[in-house]
Amino acid sequence: YRDLTRARSLIAPVPDFPEEGVVFQDVMPLLTDPVALRSCVKEMLAPFMGRFDVVAGLEARGFLLAGAAAMVADVGMVPIRKAGKLPRPAAEASYDLEYGQATVEVQADVAPGSRVLVLDDVLATGGTLSAAHEVLRSIGCEVAGSAVLLEIPSLGGRTRVPDVHAVFAG
Ligand code: 5GP
Repeated sequence: YRDLTRARSLIAPVPDFPEEGVVFQDVMPLLTDPVALRSCVKEMLAPFMGRFDVVAGLEARGFLLAGAAAMVADVGMVPIRKAGKLPRPAAEASYDLEYGQATVEVQADVAPGSRVLVLDDVLATGGTLSAAHEVLRSIGCEVAGSAVLLEIPSLGGRTRVPDVHAVFAG
């Protein structure tokens, strides 16, 4: 656990980003460290090994983790993107933000019935992750689970995504 303890110390809290009053948890320093990156990706995958066929990464930092996880687990990866970025027809799911709505999209390139493990960097309110589950199910995938590097428990994401696996919390 020494590697994980050090990895946790590499997540940098940034006060007042992207707006005043918000403390943004920046995982980029962790990603630049090879030992921290590898130990965290392995820890994200551990409960699910042998139980998924593909990993999905949420735009944008989830892409980075999903690419690494795909190599470790020897599976492929699928990106779940914000609206309007994908070049071919895509399924979509929307979720509420504090002001307005956001939409995630995925192209139906994953075989129906595939078991998908969904990865992202941070769980905040859980809106993004639960919309990702919804859009994957809409293209016939089974959600094998979700894993994040860091859960922010005070924002209540676990009420929307109860079974999420978080490497770090708080
Ligand atoms: P949620 O939908 O759970 O409220 O927000 C999670 C999404 O927003 C994730 O895709 C995550 O990357 C991003 N996010 C929200 N808060 C933070 C934060 O403090 N740090 C980072 N790195 N990402 C955040």
